[in-house]
Amino acid sequence: MTNIGLPRGVQDIMPEEVDIWQFIEETAREIFESYNYKEIRTPIFEFTELFVKGTGDTTDIVIKEMYTFLDKKGRSLTLRPEGTPGVVRAYLMNKIYSNNIPWKVYYIGPMFRYERPQAGRYRQFHQLGIEVLGIKDPIADFEIIKIALDFLQRLKLSNLEIDINSLGCIKCRPYYKEALKEYFFSVQEELSEIDKDRLKRNPLRLLDSKDENIIKLKEKAPQSLDYLCEECKEHFEKVKNYLDMDNINYKVNPKLVRGLDYYTRTVFEISTNLLGAQNAIVGGGRYDNLVETYGGPSIPGLGFAIGMERLIILLSKLGINLKNKDKKLIYFLIPEDKYLKTAIDLSQYLIEKKFKINIGNPNTSLKNQLKIANKIGADYVFFVDSITNENKIKIKNLSTGEEKIIPLNELSLELETMI
Ligand code: AMP
Repeated sequence: MTNIGLPRGVQDIMPEEVDIWQFIEETAREIFESYNYKEIRTPIFEFTELFVKGTGDTTDIVIKEMYTFLDKKGRSLTLRPEGTPGVVRAYLMNKIYSNNIPWKVYYIGPMFRYERPQAGRYRQFHQLGIEVLGIKDPIADFEIIKIALDFLQRLKLSNLEIDINSLGCIKCRPYYKEALKEYFFSVQEELSEIDKDRLKRNPLRLLDSKDENIIKLKEKAPQSLDYLCEECKEHFEKVKNYLDMDNINYKVNPKLVRGLDYYTRTVFEISTNLLGAQNAIVGGGRYDNLVETYGGPSIPGLGFAIGMERLIILLSKLGINLKNKDKKLIYFLIPEDKYLKTAIDLSQYLIEKKFKINIGNPNTSLKNQLKIANKIGADYVFFVDSITNENKIKIKNLSTGEEKIIPLNELSLELETMI
């Protein structure tokens, strides 16, 4: 056993568990691509500034959760804590906006946050996300919520709650922030030092505090919906109308703010009551000023991210039945080297026929090879030496123990019964 171990909050995804990961990833790709989104793969680390400017220097993520380090030339780099900033940077660097058409992309990959690990919360975790750049209209808000829901429903998840809210835009939000500031100043003796600091930097951040006291104080705090300008009101009404039109149930939750600074107008979360404290599976919203924040043109954007680990916990709780995607495994017993070529040629044919193959080691005894075939769960063994002798092959079904000798010219027919 190694005495090195693993840092807190990270974990191996072992081969026994990987089926469910692949199943979720394949399902996501299928759904996202059927809505005409293309995959993008951005780097795992970026300049720290990207997250400070984008995710926001008043967020918990930037203030205390980033894995930041200096490289050998003294440049500050950060392991990405979330996917959106990298995607927007790629959009800008590649001047995609000059095409003047909406850009729709998705990503799948690891993210890093120095959080307190607990069930459903890790320091390296994985997100599936989509981003849309270049659509200002509420149809895009509706579309991304619908895609998230389609995906979760494809995984047969029910008991989902969709919460939506609108945070307003750069025109109306300052009034809301002012009202929040006033309210929290009036109760400031009840705030901790950290929360007083939050209040100074960005009063919105108090609303995503998990502190019991703040949660109580939040009850009476002003709500963004009461401060929306006409355009924001109309936008939010339309998002709701589209959701109604598609019979999607949602709850307007005026307390939902999400922990990132760049959100404007619509924010949403999808959660389940089956996960305990870490119950949010999807989080997303609109970010109409982020491209500009990075020095680009005024282009609206929006997106969501889904936590893979939480999905997996949920699916395991619900006892998801992965359809048996496993191909049958054929193990070749090789008595000595001279049979190897025949086995290799035949294995090529079997791979084309959608079998998995494992070639035995001619340097060990047949008895030992058979033992390994059983241990690794092979479905069949092929006795390769029988081929050269009689142009027939002996096949043993390891689950029934049945043995057959098949003329090679009938093998393809036999394979059909073995799949
Ligand atoms: P966010 O990027 O914070 O909007 O989070 C989007 C989703 O990612 C959440 O709803 C969770 O499902 C997941 N998530 C966020 N942080 C973590 C974490 N530390 N560990 C596991 N999943 C996470």
